[in-house]
Formats: sequence, C-alpha cells, structure tokens
Amino acid sequence: MNIAALLAKAALSFPERPAIASGVEPWSDYANFHHASGAIAHALKGRYGLKSGERVAIAMSNRPEFLECLFAIWYAGLVAVPVNAKLHPSELAYIFENSGSRACFTSPELAPAIEELSADVTLLEFVISADSDTYRALKSGDTMAYAERAPEDPAWLFYTSGTTGRPKGATLSHRNLLVMTLSYFADMDPISSHDSVMHAAPLSHGSGLYALPHIAKAANNIIPESGGFDAAEVLGLIPHYSGVTLFGAPTMIVRMMNSPAMADADTTNLKLLYYGGAPMYVADVEQALRIFGSKLEQIYGQGEAPMNISYLSREFYADRAHPRYAERIASAGIARTDLEFRVVDENDKALPTGEAGEVVVRGDIVMIGYWQDPEATAAALRGGWLHTGDVGSVDEDGFLTLMDRSKDMIISGGTNIYPREIEEVLLRHDEVREASVVGRPHPEWGEEVVAFVVRREGANVAAEALDALCLDNIARFKRPKQYFFETSLPKNNYGKVMKRDLRDRLAAESDGTD
Ligand code: AMP
Repeated sequence: MNIAALLAKAALSFPERPAIASGVEPWSDYANFHHASGAIAHALKGRYGLKSGERVAIAMSNRPEFLECLFAIWYAGLVAVPVNAKLHPSELAYIFENSGSRACFTSPELAPAIEELSADVTLLEFVISADSDTYRALKSGDTMAYAERAPEDPAWLFYTSGTTGRPKGATLSHRNLLVMTLSYFADMDPISSHDSVMHAAPLSHGSGLYALPHIAKAANNIIPESGGFDAAEVLGLIPHYSGVTLFGAPTMIVRMMNSPAMADADTTNLKLLYYGGAPMYVADVEQALRIFGSKLEQIYGQGEAPMNISYLSREFYADRAHPRYAERIASAGIARTDLEFRVVDENDKALPTGEAGEVVVRGDIVMIGYWQDPEATAAALRGGWLHTGDVGSVDEDGFLTLMDRSKDMIISGGTNIYPREIEEVLLRHDEVREASVVGRPHPEWGEEVVAFVVRREGANVAAEALDALCLDNIARFKRPKQYFFETSLPKNNYGKVMKRDLRDRLAAESDGTD
C-alpha cells in the first residue's frame, strides 16, 4: 500500500475535519489537503515529467505546505527527501546530490540559496518555493489519485543527523512507515479526529513521523507560526486545541520548563509530551515529571528504525512504588510490539541480561538500507539485525538502558567508561546547567575523562566542588581529570551535543601545547 492512502482515506471519511493549522488559524481541512496533494502530484508527473521512484527533496522550515508536499510526492509515486532547513548549504548540496533529487520544495527564505546550489547539483532541475505563484498554480490544477506502490518501494530517505560523519540516507519503505503508524496505535496512543499534534520540532525529522498516525486518524496538525521552536509560542498554542500531542528533543523540553512562560502556562489540553532523539538526564526527567506528570512519555529510535525502537510509557512513569522505579525512569523503556531488540558483543554474540553491548534491532520498521551505499548497508544490517551503534543493556524485565553512542564511549586503562553516567552526576549539582564528558588521548591510559560544563546563570561552581560530587557518587577512575567551564555546548540542528567537536578542540589544544 502506498502510504499516501492514509490521507486519501482520512479525506474520504472526515473531509471537513481540520487537517492543518497555522498557529491559531485553520489552514486546511482534510478534503483540501487531499485535493492539494493530488494536484501537486499531478504537476510533478505531468508538467515536471518526474518518473515513479525519482527523488524530490523538501528543504523548508516547518510550515503548512510541508505536509502537502510530502503527500504530493507520495501521491505521485516519488520518494521524499526531507532535509533539515537549518543545514549549511554545502550539507544541503551533499544530500541533494547523494539522493539524486530532481526537484526541491523550499520556503522563501531558503529559495535563493537553493536556486544557487541547484546549478552545481547534477540532477536538481526544479526548485519550487512554497509561497510562490507557481506553487499556488500547482495546487489549483488537475488532480490525480495516489499511485500504486509496492510495500517495499522506498518512500522517505531519512538522512541521519551525521554526528559521526557524512549523513547517510536511511531508506524507509512504504511498509516501514505503515508498520510505524500501526504500532503507534498499538503501543503509544490511540488518536481520534478531535486530537491534534503540534509540530514544534523539525518536520523533516521526528515530528514529520508523528504526522503519519495523526493524519491516518484525521487529527489536526498544528504548525507554530515561527516555523521553529519557541517555548512561549508552543505553550501559548496548547489551550487553543484539544488532545494535543507534542514531540520534542530533550533540549526543547528543558527550554520549555525553564521558560518564564511556564509559570502561568495552561497545559490542560496537552495530551502527551514525548521526548527522545537524545538522552534526557534524570534530573531533567524528574523536573518534567513534576511539571507534566502523567503526560510524559519517552521514545528511543533512530532514522534507521523510525519512529522508535523502545518506549517508556505513562504507565511506567506513574508506577512510583515499583522497586526498580529509579532505574526504569533512567531507561529508554521496553521494545515495541512489532520488533525485537537485544544487546550483542563485538562478535554479534548475544550478551546476558544486564551486560552492556551494542543494541541491535529486528522488525518491519528497520530501513531497507542506506541509499546507494551497499557497504554501509551491509555493515549496519549484518546477520539480519540493524546495528544501532548505541551501547546499552537490557534488564530482567526487558527495559533497555542506553549508555552512549559506541563512538562516544571512553576507554581508560582498558576499562569502558560511559560519559552519560558522569554527566548524570554532574547535572545533580544545582549550579550546573549542562555537562558533556568526552575522552582525551592519554599516553598511559589510552584516554582520560574530561568534562565540559555550562553553569547556570550567576553560578560560580568550581572544579573542586564537582570533583567532590563525583567522589561521592562514582568510582575514582571515572572522575573528570579536567573541567572546562563554557557558556554553551556545540550542538547540531537537532539539539544533540557534538562531542566530536569537543574532542577536536581537545586535540587542537594538545597539539598547541606539544
Ligand atoms: P537520529 O537518527 O538522527 O534520530 O539519531 C538517533 C540516535 O539518537 C540514536 O541512535 C541514539 O543514539 C540517540 N537517541 C534517540 N533517542 C534516544 C533516547 N530516548 N535516549 C538516548 N538516546 C537517544
């Protein structure tokens, strides 16, 4: 089944339900959304001459047209390549080239840069800005029914955030997206046409995935007018809608909680607050539980296995009396219904309960492979399991606890040290706002532990106090040997700390002193 059928069916049964809103204003109902997608699809095939299976990029900030373009691409039997609008032009060019995109939908602020890029990208011929007369004309032309697609045909090239190298296009099939949608209803939450989802995180990434189960059930997609994440705007929009689901990276949730707007925010209409995409430290989870209580859920996933591999549902957050409650809320939860995960050693041998190793996943949400990269595909999917590159362990009840990306693990004196454990301790200090721990090459130990810390405003906590905190809580050899106090940490466009940049900085500094 073409995943576009989700929209066509919703439009058939719920034509007048609000489908897309811009801030507090209704923007499109389901009948219009369906019609616009069919019309743009018709133009992509006819006027632009695109052939089934060709790739079309979407490089735009969050705006209502994003969803029309996404579905138009699928109606036409083409493959969508949503890219983060905040990427550097050279990164955008790389993704356009790598995906072989022939057309690109964009937003007015990016259109000139993308027009310029298109001259150097081999196959990119058409750049269509969402606020242009051309776009409006496409929407009002003849329409088409969605094309036939086989379940294993590619639907979405989901480019990884590239924290460890060049982004790779995780190729998601129509089946992958359908199974992801179905298991949302099975494990995460039921949805009705009176519910809504707020897209405050990039639609090109996690939030776009959340659109699918909501469109399948004719719920409303709210796009904040800023096109990005603004804590006060998001909090202000919640009371205007019913049954609101919101997904955010941990940094977004933390910013929301620390925003002055939180004090008198009315979150009654918030149904669910998902966080995921990066670790959230226990101190922050506890604050979120105090503020949002029973509405908090966590997901752990990656572009290669969307939208999630495991989840920690409201049920577990609420079960405070459980003897392993503290471990559970620090974990990434249990496996979804449709998949299996396990933890393996470097020879792919399954490890016993509680032992740390690489998390591998098997099931119908696992990507077909990396776009035109057989070598990386074979490495990632060896033995029929997706190798996530994440280090974790599974307890006797099936809860997965993530330590770190395997590339972020520190090996000191032959012992594995997981930075997250140390970061968790540092964040317990009232005056620490952010902390990131990395390994620095050391002639004797291989690597030594170093911490980068951002203090809260007006705070002046020193290395000695943090060292004492570590001595009280973790083994001596895990203590950071040096602290760097920073005003901010380098983050990528998804709010993930770029540990590679921190390591590069340390390398440059030690080169300078040699
Ligand atoms: P991406 O494919 O860009 O979404 O990145 C996925 C990666 O983000 C995963 O492989 C994990 O390393 C990390 N990640 C996602 N969700 C979580 C979570 N709930 N807790 C910790 N790390 C996470």
